[in-house]
Amino acid sequence: MDTKEMIKVNQLNKSFGDLHVLKNIDMTVFESDVVCLIGASGSGKSTLLRCLNFLEKKDSGNIIIEGNEVDPATDNLNKIREKVGMVFQHFNLFPHKTVLENIIEAPIMVKGVDKKEAISKARQLLDKVGLEDKSDVYPSKLSGGQKQRVAIARALAMEPDIMLFDEPTSALDPELVGEVLATMKELAQDGMTMVVVTHEMEFAREVADWIVYMNDGKIIERGKPEQFFNHPKEERTQEFLKSTT
Ligand code: ADP
Ligand code: MG
Repeated sequence: MDTKEMIKVNQLNKSFGDLHVLKNIDMTVFESDVVCLIGASGSGKSTLLRCLNFLEKKDSGNIIIEGNEVDPATDNLNKIREKVGMVFQHFNLFPHKTVLENIIEAPIMVKGVDKKEAISKARQLLDKVGLEDKSDVYPSKLSGGQKQRVAIARALAMEPDIMLFDEPTSALDPELVGEVLATMKELAQDGMTMVVVTHEMEFAREVADWIVYMNDGKIIERGKPEQFFNHPKEERTQEFLKSTT
């Protein structure tokens, strides 16, 4: 039984100017849970993930990571981002660095890992994401799916306890989506704690432990996939699910 609270959010609020984007969000993510966050465009999913990684500053509420409440004013956010890795829709690889150099950059520069050790770890991770033969290639030579798998390996190189994914397959050609989802599924099976914003309902149904549905800055409904997809309780959830099929 996993009962360690990896992420706990209490009454989180965030506005951009007059636009109230996150409204009293409460959320708990336990160790090894995969939470899929779904909802229409503009509902606040990315903002929530970015708050969890402290790329956005909350207005009010608490964010507790592995039992410690984070105060961006006094805490070292780089230390927290080592624990909470993030993968974006656009992979943001360094174009002038090889795949291997992309992966070892942060462990060496941020964590002070020995170069040899960083390289050895990077090769293991490339193997894990099925790109062991691409270490010396530049990102421009990779397909979108390969780039995203490098981005996942790069995030994992920091040995995070939690991984956040913001629509990691939305920018990919349809035929490249599957390989990235397969990599994420493997990571989930390894026990990684994951919060995944996605429109891939099949993935959510199959891999998620919990589905969270957001609309207009609020969490409308959460549930186990079977219950959520087959017997959604809220009318707004039912309408949303109809719109996605
Ligand atoms: P989602 O990821 O669910 O599509 P977002 O979290 O990206 O939603 O955006 C929620 C709302 O906040 C949208 O109306 C968006 O335009 C607005 N928003 C997001 N980021 C900013 C920002 N940096 N400045 C102003 N408005 C923003
Ligand atoms: Mg978004």
